[in-house]
Amino acid sequence: MFDNKNNISGELPEHIDFIHNKAIPKFREWGYDVQILRSEKDYLDLFYHVVTRSKKPERNGKYAGFLLAGMCAANSQLKIPPIKNFLKTVKKPFIQYIGIATDEQKRLKKLEGTNKISLLQRYGYTEKMAYDLCKKYDLLSPIYKFAKRGGCWFCPNCSYKEFARLKKCHTELWNKLMLLSNEQNIISSCFKYNKTFLQIDKKVDEINSQLSF
Ligand code: SF4
Repeated sequence: MFDNKNNISGELPEHIDFIHNKAIPKFREWGYDVQILRSEKDYLDLFYHVVTRSKKPERNGKYAGFLLAGMCAANSQLKIPPIKNFLKTVKKPFIQYIGIATDEQKRLKKLEGTNKISLLQRYGYTEKMAYDLCKKYDLLSPIYKFAKRGGCWFCPNCSYKEFARLKKCHTELWNKLMLLSNEQNIISSCFKYNKTFLQIDKKVDEINSQLSF
């Protein structure tokens, strides 16, 4: 979640709507129990986390600020802990099924020696085949009309074009990032790798002046 208090998801609005109103009802119709796991913390907690134990003294007492690409705290602090906590409540042996396609060898390697299994790998499904299968069952997220990948709308790995669309189509979300970028007491003003939010915003405006979505 971006903001638990105001019920703002970290997923793009089109995707979270698809999850709640299309995917989950269909899975339930097929007889599966579906639960969404959530962290009590959200993106804003991470942004406003006050750093106290940095080896660089000038950082202590400041807010952590935007997520760092390649060291994403949202993954380690918001996504993984709820899954781990949930699994602790399962009292019998279990298998985790993970959605990694057979042509994602690097990611598959990480499953070796764990109790995680990729059904896509077992049945020889590539990413393209998985895409086509979802399409066949009308289970393709609408985000694939305009993006190659899913993920948080505030992710530092989003392309400039994805951010340009976010600003154009979900200006209210972009404005929330803009407000955060005005915060003074943050460790780093970088939003996407070594670029500040204002630099990205400028680039996004250039793209939007040339493109129509
Ligand atoms: S999509 Fe991006 S921001 Fe979200 S958890 Fe993954 S790396 Fe972090």
